[in-house]
Amino acid sequence: MIPFNNSYVHLPAQMFTRQTAKPVPDPTLIIANARLATTLGIDPDWLNTPAARDIFAGNAVADGSEPLASAYAGHQFGNWNPGLGDGRALLLGEVLGTDGVRRDIQLKGSGPTPYSRSGDGRAWLGPVLREYLVSEAMHAMGVPTTRALAAVTTGETVVREEPLPGAIITRVAQSHIRVGTFQLMAARGDIDALSALFDHVVDRHFPEVDSPAALLTAVTKAQAKLIAKWMSVGFVHGVMNTDNVSIAGETIDYGPCAFMDVYDAASVFSAIDRQGRYAYQNQPRIAVWNLAQFATSLIPLMPDQDAAIEEFTAIINAFPTHYEAQWITAFGAKLGLDAPSEDDRALISDLLGLMQQDRADFTNTFANLAGPDAHDQFVDRAAFQAWSARWQARGYDADIMATANPVIIPRNHQVEAVIAAGRDADFSPCHALLAAVTQPYAPATDATAAFARAPAMDERVTQTFCGT
Ligand code: AMP
Ligand code: MG
Repeated sequence: MIPFNNSYVHLPAQMFTRQTAKPVPDPTLIIANARLATTLGIDPDWLNTPAARDIFAGNAVADGSEPLASAYAGHQFGNWNPGLGDGRALLLGEVLGTDGVRRDIQLKGSGPTPYSRSGDGRAWLGPVLREYLVSEAMHAMGVPTTRALAAVTTGETVVREEPLPGAIITRVAQSHIRVGTFQLMAARGDIDALSALFDHVVDRHFPEVDSPAALLTAVTKAQAKLIAKWMSVGFVHGVMNTDNVSIAGETIDYGPCAFMDVYDAASVFSAIDRQGRYAYQNQPRIAVWNLAQFATSLIPLMPDQDAAIEEFTAIINAFPTHYEAQWITAFGAKLGLDAPSEDDRALISDLLGLMQQDRADFTNTFANLAGPDAHDQFVDRAAFQAWSARWQARGYDADIMATANPVIIPRNHQVEAVIAAGRDADFSPCHALLAAVTQPYAPATDATAAFARAPAMDERVTQTFCGT
């Protein structure tokens, strides 16, 4: 039983299409999230029932569910696309959690919708497992993110470059409203829908907000915090299109994403990002670009548009200030600094500079920085020792570091190994990796040591592919 309490479905009808999932032949539950279920007010024992499996597969409609595909637009790699929308996803409805938070429950991979264009509306197992593992790891590391409630295989073959096993993920989010949702209503000149969307978002995510300018400020701050968190765990989203930017400030749409192994600020993993638009170091700049599109979509709500442009520009220009403060906070904690400030910037940047030069492993450098083997990550050990002396002089708190530096992240080669096993219907590696990455700060044990190890040269996986 899922205690649905739906609100999006009461927005203007042109913002979505009611749509049911296309049934699948042979659904099997791979994994379900008992702790998240409890937060949502769902009995965790119910997750393992055939009734739950059928709902997660789209073969049954849950009581209270009013499934719909939402409409949105977006800039993809900088190019305007007016006709996106949930092409392979369905919002089943919303629940009010035991924590009082309203959340969406969405299927991804549930079949065609009016927004599918030439797509089949399906997902294959690989991206479903990647999203499950990475989103739950992000949550465990304190990064705002959508969550994973369940994953099923469908018994259906989906054809990409080759025939692949089909799967569906059940995703949970504070909402699935994107910059692209606002953009679509603005582009259509549909002021009624735009202002209904504004009211909905304020009510749902930012109750303190009383104007479009205040909403833009709140969303700007949320993005600044989010991107700083990504940077602090070495995360490259890979496809920061405006349709993949959540208004609520969560990481959304885990496609060709990856965590860096070796620190390289220019890291790009996505096979389709040939220009490196969404490289690690570009993420803050791209966030500003995306916020400018959001601001543009709010202009029609403003009585004096010229004044609004000026006001909104000033709000977006403050992004670097918010971001840099969040970055210092996040990286200051990684160095165990008490009350980190702008004065610590050089200390942080100089370490990153050495890491880049010596191709140090991002996660393991920070996880072991206070240990006796810290210099192992560096070729120029004298330079590292000189840096370390400055750090010792500044003073650090190992307890702060222990809660800011994950020991285990879902490294790309491990995720790929999980997917390869999953293709042979072996999900034990998936369960093992999930257990490890959802306890990211726990010291490695015999069972998890392999996940903490950086990949050897020949184990590295440096390219990821879109979820389609
Ligand atoms: P994404 O790159 O995953 O954010 O998707 C961009 C757009 O393409 C969204 O409108 C998706 O719904 C749509 N899309 C992606 N894959 C498929 C698919 N297999 N079938 C239908 N639509 C898809
Ligand atoms: Mg998307």
